[in-house]
Amino acid sequence: MRQRKSFRFFSSNGRYATLIIITLFIGILSACTKQSTTQTLKTFTSPELGKHVGNKLSVKTGETWFAGEDYRNFKLTGEALTSPDAEASLRFHTDGQSGYEITFRNGAIDGTRKTGSLAAVRNLYRSLAEDGKWFRFEVAVRGKNITVAINDTTVVCYTEPDQPYRTEMYANRLLSHGQLAFCGIQGEVTFRDLRVTRLNDKARNKYDTLPPVDEQNDAVIRLQQQNFPVIDYHVHLKGGLTKEMAQAMSMNYGIQYGVAPNAGEGGVGRMLANDKEVYEYYNEVKDMPFLRGVQGEGRRWTSTFSQEALGVFDYLFTDAMTIVDHKGRLSRIYRPEEVHYDDITHEQYMDHLVDQTVKILTNEPADIYANPTYLPEDMQKDYATYWTDERINRVLDVLEKHHIALEINARYRIPSLDIIRKAKERGIKFTFGTNNVDANFGRLEYSLEAVEQCGLTADDMWFPSMSVRRERQVVIYNSFE
Ligand SMILES: [Zn+2]
Repeated sequence: MRQRKSFRFFSSNGRYATLIIITLFIGILSACTKQSTTQTLKTFTSPELGKHVGNKLSVKTGETWFAGEDYRNFKLTGEALTSPDAEASLRFHTDGQSGYEITFRNGAIDGTRKTGSLAAVRNLYRSLAEDGKWFRFEVAVRGKNITVAINDTTVVCYTEPDQPYRTEMYANRLLSHGQLAFCGIQGEVTFRDLRVTRLNDKARNKYDTLPPVDEQNDAVIRLQQQNFPVIDYHVHLKGGLTKEMAQAMSMNYGIQYGVAPNAGEGGVGRMLANDKEVYEYYNEVKDMPFLRGVQGEGRRWTSTFSQEALGVFDYLFTDAMTIVDHKGRLSRIYRPEEVHYDDITHEQYMDHLVDQTVKILTNEPADIYANPTYLPEDMQKDYATYWTDERINRVLDVLEKHHIALEINARYRIPSLDIIRKAKERGIKFTFGTNNVDANFGRLEYSLEAVEQCGLTADDMWFPSMSVRRERQVVIYNSFE
């Protein structure tokens, strides 16, 4: 049902009419389904191991088990069970090598692709399933559209464009028709209750309403093909962006989203005010196909929230866009009316801003320095002059010392490529982030440009499995009245 919900927003007007149409479609779809027969997969054949008969299939490293017949449009449902570090894949439209591949692998968010990924085309980095617990999955092909659902939540909705982009390695990762194959990659993964329904050649996913991406001109698919993680860790559900819209956009663009509320005060949009609200919010989003982040907002958040409550999130970030200025005033430097130079020069103000940044990153345990090196509006045109090597080094020192990742911010196009190169040289890790204000935001253009320009590799990227913030001490270094 979540799949249906997630696409409803595309009907911009005539909501009632849309609801009626959706209801009609559901009626028609179930009528069609009744005519097609569902087959339970009970016989599996392996070129090396022979035949296996049964409702359950355990797949081990290096094994390939074929099942079913030749399918074009189909729906496959089943359950899977993984052990720690185990990985298997399900190939479809395959002769053994060709076709697409769905990943089955759970565990920590460490940069490996996870359960439900349409491997090398729509990689996912957080699994909605756990090791040691049976979980449901569904894979469907209707025309050019492929959907994958894990525990009833749609995690992939990919439409193969007319001219797909594929590297030589993945040249045959395309829709055609073919068999199903279960392939063991590492350890052991068990499947059971596999049922396949052959769908009519004309079957279409009515909820796939966003235009397919033009892959000939898309940077994301190129990184997907290299298995380079494309994650936007800094997405806010604000300005009309709902969970369902974020889910649909993320699946369409091929960018995994990390959705984060702001915890604290003074920011824009919804703010979490206390631990109770933190847990409530967390429960709201925990089963959505996003990474779960939180942003410490304002400068009081470290005393407002417990480390335990904020610890439930996959990651935490903060920025230095709210500072205590040289006269002790809390100042949001993204608001020109709150930036007061008074009797000091811009150079002195800059020194103070760097002091504040260092204090924030030293005393507030964040995983990621977001909106990094942001300057008040009237100083931005001289960014390179203000960010001297000495100042850059002071900030990079503290990132290095506390294992804090540096966000490559797509909205503000910061930090500069020069700073990114210097950070890479020191082994500092990176994340991508947008910090959107509404539903209309880009596709990480600057971040992906930086990958290209600065030669970043997957090894340069940060993942929540590297987080050390829970072990860090919270220092209350400001005294507020
Ligand atoms: Zn933000």
